[in-house]
Amino acid sequence: MHCPFCGVDDSRVVDSRPAESGNAIRRRRECEACGNRFTTYERREHAVVVRKRDGRAEPFSSAKVISGVSRAMAGRELTAETLDHLARSIEAFAEEQGPEVSTEEIGRRVLEALRLLDEAAYLRFASVHKEFEGASDFGREVAALEEGP
Ligand SMILES: [Zn+2]
Repeated sequence: MHCPFCGVDDSRVVDSRPAESGNAIRRRRECEACGNRFTTYERREHAVVVRKRDGRAEPFSSAKVISGVSRAMAGRELTAETLDHLARSIEAFAEEQGPEVSTEEIGRRVLEALRLLDEAAYLRFASVHKEFEGASDFGREVAALEEGP
């Protein structure tokens, strides 16, 4: 955090307290270079809202992404690190699209990521996400997969 008086990026927190009914933290800082004091606020980033197919909205949850992907990847080798990386990339995507993103958009993005990781898991996830009506849909998906990106 650059000092507004001298521009030096070297300050220490001299006071820290809740603000805005607990939605922010107010910090008084003292510049180590010029000694002037200034205030910073730390706020929670606006949550991304996920719009579901039935029109209801809920806050984006990377935990839900992880549990959905874990189910699709059941029995497959997938490290916690890979899963975490995937979840973070989906979260970054949601924030990019935000403040509102649809479950379809998130699902598509997860599919793209899964497809690169594991084709069988991709198909399993696709069958849930796209609510396939029959074998023809599944066959089309397999055909699309074989065509490659
Ligand atoms: Zn300063």
